[in-house]
Amino acid sequence: MSIEKQISIINNEVKDKAELIAVSKTRSIDDINEAYNQGQKKFGENRVQEIVDKFNKLPKDIEWHMIGHLQKNKVKYISEFISLIHSLDRLSLANEIDKNGKKHDKSINCLIQIKISKEESKFGLNIDELDSFYNEVKMLKNINILGLMGMATFTDDIELINQEFKEMNKLFKKMKAIDSNFKILSIGMSDDYKLAINNGSNMIRVGSKIFGKRNY
Ligand SMILES: *Cc1c(COP(=O)(O)O)cnc(C)c1O
Repeated sequence: MSIEKQISIINNEVKDKAELIAVSKTRSIDDINEAYNQGQKKFGENRVQEIVDKFNKLPKDIEWHMIGHLQKNKVKYISEFISLIHSLDRLSLANEIDKNGKKHDKSINCLIQIKISKEESKFGLNIDELDSFYNEVKMLKNINILGLMGMATFTDDIELINQEFKEMNKLFKKMKAIDSNFKILSIGMSDDYKLAINNGSNMIRVGSKIFGKRNY
């Protein structure tokens, strides 16, 4: 099915519930333009070099979301144009983002990435570290914490994914109750975004369902 068709199908399914971030990592400029021409304005990427390259080549009203693990020394390349960093997961990175925000006299929007999966390879903050991390980060003037992001375990076990999303939603509600700035819960990808929305997600990150299977 075409990129246009998939975008409109997913938007119809999720409208009024969640914002669709089209995950365009590894995709060509032509593919992204096709989605853009269908009205899609929010795109997610996981590599700094790629997001900078695409930012330079594509229309300036696109909102770029950094969804992948971010190295400190690369923050400077995206800090001027990035709409939302989904992958804030450590204090040293928070300090670096804050420093870059100061440099551009702005506040950089971030989500705290939580490690909900037991898998070794997933990045993110442990749940029991959230309170103290939040207390440190909220002192930084040039970071704006807007919510939480999580990635479920890579598995066919729907019940496990459901449990992990439930846990995220609980955590999100808890944070929202103490800080009204918490507005975004970024959970759900191509295979599980409906489940995520049932568990309170209001931002989904969908790649292969829109653009087709990735081959990397
Ligand atoms: C690649 C990626 C996605 C999208 O995955 P799909 O299964 O292609 O929808 C979402 N979130 C993150 C963090 C990713 O790296």
